[in-house]
Formats: sequence, structure tokens, C-alpha cells
Amino acid sequence: MTKHIFVTGGVVSSIGKGLTSASIGMLLEARGLRVKMQKLDPYINVDPGTMSPYQHGEVYVLDDGSETDLDLGHYERFTSGTLTRDSNYTTGQIYLRVIEKERQGFFLGKTVQVIPHITNEIRDAILRMADPSTDVVITEIGGTVGDIEGLPFLEAIRQFPLAVGRENCLFIHLTLVPYLKAAAEIKTKPTQHSVGQLRQIGIQPDMLICRCEQSISREEREKIALFCNVPLEAVIEEKDRDFSIYEVPLSLRDHRLDEFITKRFGFVTPPPNLDAWDSLMFSLRNPKHEVSIAVVGKYAEHKDAYKSIYESIDHAGIHHKASVRVARILSSDIEQEGPERLLSGYDGILIPGGFGERGIEGKLQAIRYAREREIPFFGICLGMQCAAIEFGRSIVGLTDAHSTEFNKDTPHPVICLLDEQRNVTELGGTMRLGAQPCKLIPNSLAHQAYHLDSISERHRHRYEFNNVYRNQFEAHGMRFSGLSPDGSLVEILELPSHPFFLAVQFHPEFKSKPTKAHPLFAKFVGAAIERRTGRKGKPPTESDTPISNPVASQESAKT
Ligand code: GLN
Repeated sequence: MTKHIFVTGGVVSSIGKGLTSASIGMLLEARGLRVKMQKLDPYINVDPGTMSPYQHGEVYVLDDGSETDLDLGHYERFTSGTLTRDSNYTTGQIYLRVIEKERQGFFLGKTVQVIPHITNEIRDAILRMADPSTDVVITEIGGTVGDIEGLPFLEAIRQFPLAVGRENCLFIHLTLVPYLKAAAEIKTKPTQHSVGQLRQIGIQPDMLICRCEQSISREEREKIALFCNVPLEAVIEEKDRDFSIYEVPLSLRDHRLDEFITKRFGFVTPPPNLDAWDSLMFSLRNPKHEVSIAVVGKYAEHKDAYKSIYESIDHAGIHHKASVRVARILSSDIEQEGPERLLSGYDGILIPGGFGERGIEGKLQAIRYAREREIPFFGICLGMQCAAIEFGRSIVGLTDAHSTEFNKDTPHPVICLLDEQRNVTELGGTMRLGAQPCKLIPNSLAHQAYHLDSISERHRHRYEFNNVYRNQFEAHGMRFSGLSPDGSLVEILELPSHPFFLAVQFHPEFKSKPTKAHPLFAKFVGAAIERRTGRKGKPPTESDTPISNPVASQESAKT
């Protein structure tokens, strides 16, 4: 029988439920259990695909093309289970399903209500995750206990033990235990109130994970245990980690979180095998190099807008045993202040994906700067499209070359709408999405990074490189090193004359893991380190050896 863990959050939002849930999943997997992760989001949007990054940060794309909450990125980076459409439900999706059923006459004339129809739909969404090959499903409930919009989800998980048995469910509540400087004390009252609110709904948590700035003494843990009606060993401290988020699972292990959970469910497992995690922490703590990367984007001031990009750069740093300093630079600032002022001194420049015209000229200036000064450059999605525009304007001589996304009447539409997009009218879920195969050209930089002839990467775009311009671009020195299998779509472009100039139409950042850096990020950061240390031409070091390929291994893990 599959066991179910529910993770709720209290006291404040942004308390780190996603990271904590992912860490729990990681620890249980490290004990040999088969884990699946799910997030239920109380907002009404059907998915986050149409939301601005200012709302909930980046949109995380899965292999199956679903556009999901960024917490799913934590789940994929920390655990190995494949995520699918069923891994993320919103209130909007749940209601949509119920309303569609109502229109089809499914409810046979009954009044359709939040309880039981919406709550049953939520229950079924959770049950869909359970199957004989899954030991534990971890379901994170978005939002904070006390929010009106989260109530149907909490009611559904309150009822859930009635369907599968209380012994098969574990409720974890993540709360804040603040430290009051003036009183020089930590305060447990918000936690007591938050648990009180949960109990009013009918949920008695089995475990409390307490986010705190200062360690919680045994006495205080005893107090929380008593007031909140949980055993002492189920009051787990999760202290803020300034150094790295990858410390979180190790610290939860030290507080015996996984031991409590496995005992509670009656799993007999060896202690967690955390060798890979320990070794990544060792690399983080003992860097041999330093490197700095500028990420130039429209939403650079928002720390979560390019979450997976920042994480992937860190993974590449871990791979090279390098401490990486990432600067988030607004592309519109480059338009004001110029690339020289804002970009000089960085060892690599990355332009991430995006939509809309604001800051485009700044990105073009950044690309030109990287190209002319031979600074390693990595473009992703819109970053690739901008690289093509910049090359078209500066090198091919196509004055005013542009993407039709930004200038419909450009004389040189080097980036144009994908054919399949021409009749699309709705915005939600209609881009070219999810995993698509791509063939790599032998001897290219891309091939040297992947060591593969064909790859699969995730996409999220409507525009593409305009094939009318392919020959002209090639004649001026651009190489199209990755193409869709029928050759019709440009997926990767590079400049062989440059030390590292590579741009991709897909989103490699969705396939990088802390224990397995993505080959392109590893190659890019490697080139940046090389530029910094000025050791071009020297024999390769350990960090230049081919790295295991996350794409290939994820594919084989499925079979
Ligand atoms: N706006 C561009 C397109 O739709 C790029 C999208 C992206 O960067 N994800 O093609």
C-alpha cells in the first residue's frame, strides 16, 4: 500500500515548503524507497504558464509539456522520480475537471458542491499518484494554513485517511519559530496558533518542521511538542542555511527526520546513502577555482524568475569545483548604462529565455559585447533568438533584422513564428512545449559537450530561427549544430571562431541536477573558468573529462 505524506505550511508564506518537501523525498529515496512528488496550488489559474515571473517566479516545464510551479524544479533536482501532468494541480484545474464533468451530465442531476465534488476531485488527483511501484507519495499543499482559497485542499487531505487508512498517512506541518531580538528569545506561539488552525480543520499534524534562525533548545521543543500534541522526536528543527540550500536535507537527516518517517510507516530500510550529496557538499566547501557569470535578463531583479538557470550554474560550479558568483543584470539597465560599464570583468555572459520587447536591445548589446570580446556566451531560448538577431545585424549585414515577436514589419525576420503556431489563438498551454528530440552535428561544441549524436530537451516557445536565412548565416561563420530530426528547426547555434559562443532554442536548465550538472552548463562554466585562469592550450584537467549525461541517464531510467 502506497504511503502518503502531506506537507502544509503555516505562520508565513515563502517558508520553504518546496525545498523541504524535496529534501524529504531525497532522504527517503536515499533509504531505497520509491518516491513520487506532487504539488497542489490553491490559485485559480489552470497552470502558471500564463503568469508573469513576478507572480510565482519561473514556469517549470516537464518532459510531457506541462507548465508547472517552480517547486517541481526542486523535486526533480533532489529526487529521481519522473514528474508528469499529475504532479501539479491548481484550483483552476480541479474546478475545470468538475465543471467539464457537470456539462457532460456526469453528476446525474445532483447539485455540484465544493464538498464532496471538488474535494473528491482533489482526492482522485492525489490517488492518481499512488501505484504498486510507489512506496511514498509526497503531496505539498501550496499557500499558508488560514488562506481561504486553500480550504478545499485541506478539507480533501483531512478526508484522505478515510479513503486509505490513517496509518498510511503522515501530516507534516512546516512553521516558523521566530527569534525576537529584543526579548533574546525564540517564540513558539505562532507555531501553536498555526497548529491550532489546522486542528480546527480536523488535521492533527504528526510532525512539525520548525524553520528558525536560532537553534531551538530541547526545552522549547518539548514545549512545542506538548502544546501541539506531537511526540518530541517529531519536532524537527530546520535552521536557515546561509551557505547552500543543499545543506537542508543533510540537516534534516541530522535531526532524524527520515528515521521518524520510516519508523512511523513501518518501513525497514538501511540508513540513507548520501555519498553523492556529501561529495557535492565537499566540492562546494572546497572550491579550487573562482568564476563570475553575468545573467542578463528582463526579470533579473527577481530572484526566482530564472531559478533553474541559477541552480544549473551552481551545479556546473560544483562539477568544476568552482565557486561561482552570479550577477543578475537587468537588460534594460544595459540600454541605459552600456555593456562596458555593467559587464566588464565577468568571465561568462548568459541570456535566459523570455517574452516581450522590454530590454531586448540591452540583450543584443550584451551579446555583441560577449561576441566581440571573446567572452564565453550561452543563450537560452529568447537568448538564442537574440544571438541570431545580433549576428544578422552586425555580421550578415541585415540592418534592422528582428524577431516578428517584436517587430511584425521587420525587413529581415530572422526569427519568425513557428508554422504550427500560425492558427493558435489561445495563450494557455499552446506553445511548443516539452521534450523534443534534437540531432547534434559531429565535431561541434554541442557534440563535444554531450558526447551524443541525439538528445532530448525541453522546450517552451512560439518563435524559431527563420530557415530562409540559414545559408547566409552559415556563409558568415555561424554553425547550426543542433537540428530537429527532420532538419526543419534550428535547436542550437554556435560560432566556431569564438572560444565559447553557443545558444539553444530549448531549456537545458530544466534537466540539470546538483549531483549531475547539465553538459552545456558544465561546458559553459568550464569555458568561463578557462578564460579567467587564462590557461588556454594547457593539457586538460580532471574537470575537463566527459561528464555523465543527465539527458541520457534520465531517458534510460524510464525504460
Ligand atoms: N518569446 C520567445 C518565443 O516564444 C522565446 C520564449 C522563451 O524564451 N521561452 O519563441
